[in-house]
Amino acid sequence: MLEIRSIQKSFGSQTALDRIDLKIQEGEFFSLLGPSGCGKSTLLRILAGLEDATSGEILWKGKRIDQLPARERPFNMVFQKYALFPHLTVSDNIAFGLRLKKVDEREIRERVEEAMALVNLVGFEQRFPETLSGGQQQRVALARALVNRPACVLLDEPLGALDQKLREKMQADLRLLQKRLGLTFIFVTHDQEEAMILSDRVAVMNAGRLEQVSSPRDLFENPQSLFSARFVGGRNEISGVSTKIDIGIQFESSGYQLQGRSICEDLNSKGQGSSVRAFIRPEQVRVMNQASSHETNRLVGEVFQILFRGLRSEVAVRTLDGMIIRSLMDPSQASEFQVGQVVSVEFPISETHLFWAGE
Ligand code: ATP
Repeated sequence: MLEIRSIQKSFGSQTALDRIDLKIQEGEFFSLLGPSGCGKSTLLRILAGLEDATSGEILWKGKRIDQLPARERPFNMVFQKYALFPHLTVSDNIAFGLRLKKVDEREIRERVEEAMALVNLVGFEQRFPETLSGGQQQRVALARALVNRPACVLLDEPLGALDQKLREKMQADLRLLQKRLGLTFIFVTHDQEEAMILSDRVAVMNAGRLEQVSSPRDLFENPQSLFSARFVGGRNEISGVSTKIDIGIQFESSGYQLQGRSICEDLNSKGQGSSVRAFIRPEQVRVMNQASSHETNRLVGEVFQILFRGLRSEVAVRTLDGMIIRSLMDPSQASEFQVGQVVSVEFPISETHLFWAGE
């Protein structure tokens, strides 16, 4: 297990990491997800030994490793910019680190062959980096990390420079490779979909802090903070003011009395009159062709857009006061609606996640 204990990092007066505590299991695909500047790369660089923490400890299998130089840690790092040597062939690029360590040439040959086979690059040994595609160059960078047989691979936005199609292919390949080799992967990305697809667990980071650490499914279904709910995205967001705080929470938005639930201590302790945000996933929203708003969490509006999104269709409804609520449904259901039609939308109380919106 990798244990990160209260890691703090300051650059001058700026706090880049604020008491990060994390436990990552061996064999886990773990992602650090967050917007630009939240501290993902800094944390990865501290793990790799490329940067010192201001305070805190890092333990691998129960032993402190934060005082070890980078080359003595059981980690290898893969960067977004592949950082290959242009004047070296693919196999010399992969062998470079082993040669520095003066590993026996026969062993180098065996290990380079093995690493190239792992990333599907057999036949490319004598090519130079500039003659390879972006995806192939990233495979070389990955092989260069794997050739050291690290216990843990640290990947800093490794797919960021690839086009969408190649990126999807590499995502599938990375996941297969990681599971097959049983390695621990710590993967940095700002792309929530990528983190969700690849990871066993995801840590959402915001301004140097961890907002939430959970499985992708839990993050999707039960965001624990306003930031996580917004960052994971793809949700309807409604602003309102709390009117009654009980087992559930009632709130008012544009004259509607709505209800939701909150796991957020902040909101439960704030009492009524607080500014709130409600998040509802589009697949939880039902659109009905009668216009009635007598039920809880039912609003009247007009269909203003229908989008076909492959297996699902999105029906967007604008309420009388301009709030937009999106619903995802089967295309056959969506075909029952037309733009301009007056409808009502309804969403369950249990799926209406409320957060305190701050002062
Ligand atoms: P990105 O996705 O853009 O790479 P990130 O989440 O990886 O962002 P970091 O690169 O870890 O963010 O940076 C975290 C914060 O620390 C930023 O505000 C950044 O400006 C600052 N920072 C990082 N490295 C240094 C440095 N060497 N000197 C001063 N400030 C730094």
